[in-house]
Order: sequence, then C-alpha cells, then structure tokens
Amino acid sequence: MPGVPVGDFEISLIRSSIYWWDGGVLFGVVPKTLWSRKCPADELNRIPLGFNSYVIRTGDHTILLDTGPGDKMDARARERAKMPAVSEPLPEAIARHGLDPEAIDIVVNSHLHWDHAGGNTVLHGDRAVAAFPRARYFAPRGEWERAHERHVRDSVAYIHANYDPLVESGQMTLVDGDHEVAPGVWMRHAPGHTRAMTVVAAASRGQTFCFLSDLAPLAAHAQPTWVAALDLYPLESIATKTRWLAAAVEGNWICGFGHDPQADFARIHADPKTRFAASGLEA
Ligand SMILES: [Zn+2]
Repeated sequence: MPGVPVGDFEISLIRSSIYWWDGGVLFGVVPKTLWSRKCPADELNRIPLGFNSYVIRTGDHTILLDTGPGDKMDARARERAKMPAVSEPLPEAIARHGLDPEAIDIVVNSHLHWDHAGGNTVLHGDRAVAAFPRARYFAPRGEWERAHERHVRDSVAYIHANYDPLVESGQMTLVDGDHEVAPGVWMRHAPGHTRAMTVVAAASRGQTFCFLSDLAPLAAHAQPTWVAALDLYPLESIATKTRWLAAAVEGNWICGFGHDPQADFARIHADPKTRFAASGLEA
C-alpha cells in the first residue's frame, strides 16, 4: 500500500517481517475458542504477527516509529518464532518500501521491548552503533529505567545494546510523559502494557494518525477487554485503550497496530457488543 495522506503528512507502514508467537500470550484471559476465530493458530498454538514500524513524512521531517526486532537474537529464538535466519536490515526494508532511509531524522520508540527497539542499532562485531546515524532518537525515560531494573518478569524483553549506546552518546533523548518530537507529532503516555509506554499521534489539518503500538497489538485488540497476557497492568490497559479508542472514533482517526500481520491502517468504530472494533482501510 502506498503512503496514506493525513492532512499534509504521509504515513507508510514498514513491516520488517512476519513472526509467530503463542496465541494465548497475545490474548490473556480470552478463551481460545473466541480468539482463534479471528487469529487461527498453528499446531504449536502460534499465530502470525508482524513487526510493524511506521514512517511519517511531514514535509520537514521523516519520522520512524519503532524499529522492529533488529539483529541481536540468537538462532534458537528466531526458530522458535519462525523468523528468517537473518533479518533484513531495517534501512533496507525502508528502501524496499520506496522510502529513503537516509532521510530519517527522528526515530521514536513507543517503548524499549526488543521487538520495538531492536533495529535502533546494528552490531559491528560486538559494538552496537546507530542504524540511523543522522537521527535523533526518543524513548520514554520510564522504559529505560524499567529495562535497567532487570526485573525477573520482563528483563528478557529488554536488550541494552538497543538503546544504551544511544543514551551514552547523547543521540537518544529520554522523555517524561507527553512529548512533541516534531510539530504535530506527539508521544502520548499510554500505560498498561508497561508503566511508561507511549502511543504516537500525528495530526495535520484536522486529520490524525495514531500508532497504537502494544496498546492494541492486533486489530482484534480493539475490543478493550482483549488484553495480552504480556501486559503488566491489564486493568490500566483497558482504561487507557477505552480512552484512546473513544478519541479515535470521535476524531475518525487512522490507526496503526504494533503487530497486526495484515491490517496496515484501520479506523475504529463503536460496536454495540464489543464497545469498539477496527476495520482495515482498503488499499
Ligand atoms: Zn511490548
């Protein structure tokens, strides 16, 4: 799908690859008899997911939202997720979508989990260097703090080589709460999946695109009570999601999901049974 216009902005999806993950992990307390109708599982109970990044071209800036898995996973982890043995470097994936990776001057991480920040850096030997040398990087400070707690529950999700070299060099700015990274493009605090996660809302001429990241990893998560078992604060996920999706309906926003393997862009509408539902934008 070519870039989608949002006012003066143009938004493109970069899906660096498809991977497969346990469906139960994605749907938490929702019974499989319900979620498997929307996301059929394979013989190992895995469902297909995408590593979704978005590029916003504002005219003045080219902004990359999330950077996918990167190159720091071992062969076993890749095999478990049915990922290609070697990931296509994100700058190449961006070029394959007809965009110039060199033009990226801002990189935003909604949060610092490996599958959202892995492409921030690339390994040269055992040294991690910026994959987008020209860019200023932004991430929530609370994410960086959580990563360094090395909590037993989620330390596996954080790989320091994805952000510490950038923080040390001053190339990454850690932000507190809401933060405008470029005119009209805001990181907005959206707690639930983690304490400090943000969504990114880009508004131009009365139109809005919102990257929901892991607030709604799949279109099926538009139903507020469908919360991943991964979420550290599920009740907050429900409250945050209800608030953001109500705004999305009200403003007729175009939304993007963190991991949907098919829905590149979607609108949210009210639904009498599930409260909200998503419908994909036609190509
Ligand atoms: Zn995450």
